[in-house]
Amino acid sequence: PVFNPDDLVLIRRLGEGTGGSVDMVQDRRTGKIMAKKVIARTANPSMHKQLLRELQFLDSCDSPYIVEHYGSFLAEHESIVGIVMEYCEAGSLDSLLQNMKRKGMRCSEHVLGRIASSVLKGLDYLHERRIIHRDIKPSNIVVTRQGAVKLCDFGVSGELIESLAGTFTGTSFYMAPERIQNKPYSIKADVWSLGMTLHEIAHLRFPFPPEGENQSVAPIELLSYIVTAPVPVMMDDPTVGRVWSEQIKGFMAACLIRSGTERPYPWQLLRHPFIITTETKKINMAKWVAALCDWPPP
Ligand code: ADP
Ligand code: MG
Repeated sequence: PVFNPDDLVLIRRLGEGTGGSVDMVQDRRTGKIMAKKVIARTANPSMHKQLLRELQFLDSCDSPYIVEHYGSFLAEHESIVGIVMEYCEAGSLDSLLQNMKRKGMRCSEHVLGRIASSVLKGLDYLHERRIIHRDIKPSNIVVTRQGAVKLCDFGVSGELIESLAGTFTGTSFYMAPERIQNKPYSIKADVWSLGMTLHEIAHLRFPFPPEGENQSVAPIELLSYIVTAPVPVMMDDPTVGRVWSEQIKGFMAACLIRSGTERPYPWQLLRHPFIITTETKKINMAKWVAALCDWPPP
C-alpha cells in the first residue's frame, strides 16, 4: 500500500541515522501509532517505479522476527522515500544497551539466547528469500512491549543501497571483515554482525579496541582491528561472579569466525546447542524490557 504522508501526524522523533530519520507518527484516519522512516535519495525518476517495486517486497514479508511493513511513499518530488512500519515500543537494542549501562544491569545468558535465536530466525527468513540484511547492528534490532525481538532496515532496495553506499552509512563497525575488505560476501556477513552485537550487549562494551589498549582510535583504525586483531572472545568476570557457559562461548566463537566462508549459516546456528537450550527455556522478555524501560512489571 502507498501511504499519503499528509495522513501521518508527527508524535515525536525516535532517532536519526546517517541515511535518514525515524519518527513516531499517528495515522489520523485510524489512530494507529506507527514508525515512519524517511530516507533522502538522489532523485532519479526513472528508478522510482523500480524502487517502489522493491519496497513491495517489504509488504510480502510476514515473520514475527521482521518488523511489519505498513506501506511506503515518495515525497518532495520523489527525492525522499518514506517507509511506514510497526512501532516497537521498547526501541532498539542500541537504546536498551544505553539503559543497561546506565542502570548497571547485565544481561543474562537466557536473554542473550532469546535475542540470538530471534535474530537468527529473522536472518533465516530473509535468506530463504535471497535477501542479505547488510546492516545488522543494535540500532536495527527493535523490541516490542511484549519483548519480541525483530529486524528492521534490511537491504531490500538495490537503489537505496547504492545511494547510501557513498556515505559512511555504507560502513559500520559491526561489518564483517570480508565486507570491510571488499570481498564477496553472503548472509554469513550478517552472522558476524550478530556476533559483534551480542558481544557488546554481553559485556556492555564494544569489543574493539581491546580492553587495556589506547581507547581513543580513529574510525579507520577501528576497522583495521576488525580485520586484523584477534577475534573477540567471551570474557568471564569472576569478581562479579560472571562465568559464561561453554555453550554460549562456543556459539559466539562460531558467529565470530573471521573467515566469511567458514562461518556458519543462520540455519546451521539455529541447531547450535546454545540455541537449542535457549528454546527449551521459558524466558520472560516482557519483564526484561519493562525493567529496562522503567515500565510497571507486566
Ligand atoms: P540507525 O539505525 O543508524 O540508528 P535509523 O534512522 O535507522 O538510524 O534509526 C534511528 C533510530 O530510530 C534507531 O536507533 C531506533 O532506536 C529507532 N527506530 C527505528 N525503527 C524503529 C521502530 N520500528 N520502532 C521503534 N524505534 C525505531
Ligand atoms: Mg536503522
